Amino acid sequence: MEWRCPQCGAPVVLEETDRILSCGYCRVRLHLSWRGHWRYWLSPGKDLPADPLFVPYWRFRGIVFSCVDREIRHRVADSSHLALGLEGLPATLGFRPQALKLRPVTPTVGASFLRPETSFRSPSTVAGDAEKRSAAGDGKPPAPYEVFIGETVSVLYSPVTIRGEKVLDGILGRPLPSVVPSSLESLPFDRFPDELVTFSPMLCPRCGWDLEGEKDSVVLLCRNCRSAWASRGSGLERVDFSVMVEPKEAPLYLPFWQIRARFSGIRLDSYADLVRLANLPKAVQPEWEDRKARLWIPAFKIAPHLFLRLGRALTLFQGEGDPEAPLPSSGLHPVSLPPEEAAESLVITVAAFGVPKKTLLPKLPEIRAPMEGYSLCYVPFRVTSAECIQPKIGLSLNRNALDLGRKI
Ligand SMILES: [Zn+2]
Ligand SMILES: [Zn+2]
Repeated sequence: MEWRCPQCGAPVVLEETDRILSCGYCRVRLHLSWRGHWRYWLSPGKDLPADPLFVPYWRFRGIVFSCVDREIRHRVADSSHLALGLEGLPATLGFRPQALKLRPVTPTVGASFLRPETSFRSPSTVAGDAEKRSAAGDGKPPAPYEVFIGETVSVLYSPVTIRGEKVLDGILGRPLPSVVPSSLESLPFDRFPDELVTFSPMLCPRCGWDLEGEKDSVVLLCRNCRSAWASRGSGLERVDFSVMVEPKEAPLYLPFWQIRARFSGIRLDSYADLVRLANLPKAVQPEWEDRKARLWIPAFKIAPHLFLRLGRALTLFQGEGDPEAPLPSSGLHPVSLPPEEAAESLVITVAAFGVPKKTLLPKLPEIRAPMEGYSLCYVPFRVTSAECIQPKIGLSLNRNALDLGRKI
């Protein structure tokens, strides 16, 4: 999506997941906060009449974890559903969002965009409906537990054309026989906020120094006063962080959220509970009963199976970061998953490390885990030509996986 640099007017391409604008011309770096959902439109077919109406769809992208037949499954989802209550229009856009070019809706685009009537239904509701339909069709039971991580919700407008008494799909020109023109024409148009995005300078709120971050970073760092800042609405909020220190600085540090939550539906208050739940080969020490359990969740996007593997390994390791340690001079992987989104994966992470699966997995739908607090910890990794390795935790992962994860 092409934008203009607010300082010099040069064109800048921004992605939905970008949090920082870097202008290649005047070198300004600005922190972005989005208002509302991103909105895109699909171009009408060439041979169709001009002035189509644009029908709104909700589009969801993210990782879906589910638990079916006592097995944890995952997939990367990209789905859409109609945002109008009107019958006869296609219920989803199918593969169109991936296959066709999306254009941004800006306040200056003069076209007739219909306003979404239905609010965004959580993908679990939509997916749940689909599961139920598939259950009716092929006898599969519905997924008993499903959760969505790293979600991006946007509005996508697809054109329809009115020709006489007929409504046509505005891309292929196929008739939509069960829609009458008057039902569409009576619907209200959408109004767009003038300012879809606000830009703020990347300066430390505490000391005024330049903040450091990559374009998809949701946490910015100040090297001058050793502080970390997370985007909150239109401002920045301080985040506690620590670094797992090694004698020699590592070439790579991966960020993890250490999350404290109040679990219900399962006993998981203390480190002792965690050791018992995971059935770790350790004798539970009395003081572990008072040590609060913290779950470690990757603070960056990565393929779903690795996301769970990392969360499980770090949670079971229960290492300590040093909250006073200086920031490593380089190699900090950007934080691209906000703590609230990371917290969505607490229950599925419990499912990944807890045993026995037979009794644990059926309980997942009843488990609640509201977040009580969080902090960030940078964990050092050694790097070889192909892999990143954390020898103490016994973890290794392919280097490509980190780059691929940034595209989710
Ligand atoms: Zn500029
Ligand atoms: Zn500072």
